Amino acid sequence: MCRHIGWLGAPRSVASLVLDPPQGLLVQSYAPRRQKNGLMNADGWGAGFFDSGVPRRWRSDKPLWGDASFASVAPALTSGCVVAAVRSATIGMPIEPSASAPFTDGQWLLSHNGVVDRSVLPLTGVAESTVDSAVLAALIFERGLDTLGQTIVEVGTLDPNARLNILAANGSRMIATTWGDTLSMLALPDGVVLASEPYDDDPGWSDIPDRHLVTVAGSDVELTPLKGSV
Ligand code: GLN
Repeated sequence: MCRHIGWLGAPRSVASLVLDPPQGLLVQSYAPRRQKNGLMNADGWGAGFFDSGVPRRWRSDKPLWGDASFASVAPALTSGCVVAAVRSATIGMPIEPSASAPFTDGQWLLSHNGVVDRSVLPLTGVAESTVDSAVLAALIFERGLDTLGQTIVEVGTLDPNARLNILAANGSRMIATTWGDTLSMLALPDGVVLASEPYDDDPGWSDIPDRHLVTVAGSDVELTPLKGSV
């Protein structure tokens, strides 16, 4: 189980989201507080952001805590839409930069926390990596993000053991699902954070219930239960 975080709002630095918070992704890479599967997230990381509408990514197959170059540059990377993740590889999955989220179709940045049986996924195209998360991302891109909720319910039916927490953004919208793992939200005056777990002790954090779809557009946040919920 990995950990991910997204931001939609006023431009802010990638470091202020990922590296600086007392319980941010950097700390979550070695000491997550709410992770149910896996002890740490040392198998890679990825930071993606939109730059005048263009998704850009920096990904690695090494632990985030060891990357001095990223720590040096991240304070200078600012964006109004960020998707970042740290990875704990599922057994049997490849460890390579292209297996680290966020994945992209050129329009969206997408991260997956969880696990899914690749053999049940009806993907017709090609994924960035053979890792289950990349195959799932490619299927979601193929179906379109407007039907993310339906796709997750369908995949959850095809693989009842799947955990399918998705976080995706395209520069003006951010969408997430909870299906088997934690997700929290913090609405700030200048934007919205969605994160696998709170990055600090701000009392404004709220937990998203399991099997829900969250959509954020500007300061509007909508929470919808996913069909198939128990
Ligand atoms: N199954 C994915 C992988 O191997 C995601 C793992 C996770 O959420 N920890 O990378």
